Amino acid sequence: MSFVLGLTCRECARSYPAEALHACEWCFGPLEVTYDLDAIAAVTSRERIESGPRNLWRYADFLPVDTVSPPGLGAGFTPLVKADRLAAKLGLGELYLKDDTRNPTGSFKDRVVSVALTKARELGFRVAACASTGNLANSVAAHAARLGMESVVLIPQDLETVKVLTTAVFGGRLLRIDGNYDDVNRLCGELAGEYPDWAFVNVNLRPYYAEGSKTLGFEVAEQLGWQLPDHVVVPIASGSQLTKIGKGFSQLVDTGLVEPHAVRISGAQAEGCSPVASAFASGSDDIRPVQPSTIAKSLAIGNPADGFYALDLVRRSGGAIGSVNDDEIVEGIRLLARTEGIFAETAGGVTIATLAKLAREGTIRPDERVVAYVTGSGLKTVEALSDRVLLDEPIGANVEEATWSLDRHLRTEVLV
Ligand SMILES: [Zn+2]
Repeated sequence: MSFVLGLTCRECARSYPAEALHACEWCFGPLEVTYDLDAIAAVTSRERIESGPRNLWRYADFLPVDTVSPPGLGAGFTPLVKADRLAAKLGLGELYLKDDTRNPTGSFKDRVVSVALTKARELGFRVAACASTGNLANSVAAHAARLGMESVVLIPQDLETVKVLTTAVFGGRLLRIDGNYDDVNRLCGELAGEYPDWAFVNVNLRPYYAEGSKTLGFEVAEQLGWQLPDHVVVPIASGSQLTKIGKGFSQLVDTGLVEPHAVRISGAQAEGCSPVASAFASGSDDIRPVQPSTIAKSLAIGNPADGFYALDLVRRSGGAIGSVNDDEIVEGIRLLARTEGIFAETAGGVTIATLAKLAREGTIRPDERVVAYVTGSGLKTVEALSDRVLLDEPIGANVEEATWSLDRHLRTEVLV
């Protein structure tokens, strides 16, 4: 059984039952899952969690589902990598990377989709749908296939080829929309009214879906020996992931699993789509929607649904929100690959480049224990590199030519 009390409006605090609802009928504010934390505290323990499955369901007590041992693809419990070589490059001390490239479909979206589709089945839905910038499309199509559900995935038509192919392969309906993500998202909102028996994971199932991101906070604390870090750096698309990592840390404190500790939470955006970073920089609460233009397409949400809440949490925690341009994003991908052997997608490049920038500015300090979230695999966004790679001409299969080539000290380079 779950410990869910119901849904609560984040604006006016009105309560709703735990059904397929996402907006307050009174004020249209977003709805949030609330839990009986005292009841969770009474049953949970570090030992209970550590003896659970090696995936996100080890945190089932904190998730809004009733199903015991839900079927799925085994998302979550990805490695927390101590990144000493990258830390040295950036002048930082204790740095870790939460490597969510290692999820079943190569991004953190497998966490939120696992939770959303488990809940969707409990609520009786048989069709899984979503608006996606790519990673969510991959994950919904794959999980729907695994769970025997139908899927309907809507994406902007200009997505990376790999993300389109690796969605189509799972079957299901794939609708390419002539418009950007914000157009696709608006269309999904309208379709959710037309097709009330479809589970739109990021529309009518959004409160449950978003809860999956809390596991990014839970796991980091467990992997640090049941301690909270000093500072985390999180990419911002809708802003939901950042706020849920913060909620995850808070719930661990509230249930006695970790000691209270102030965590500074910083955000990362691409300059070509930085409405939250711009509001942070100008000291404003007003997040002005933008037309995205960036190679970080998985972060290209010009009108972020949770932008205000992310901004508010970053400010209250004493963090910052930085933004980086396309060249810096590629440099971030390259730096991470060369120092730690992790190939991140463009969103990971945004995170690492912003980490570097905040470290240079002194916002992130060498005496802090820092965790950066690397949320998707570079294999999905090879286009970002393909016109920047300089390869040597092929040589003959003989020692002379190999020696000649090696003596020229040329290397395969990714140019920035
Ligand atoms: Zn309300």
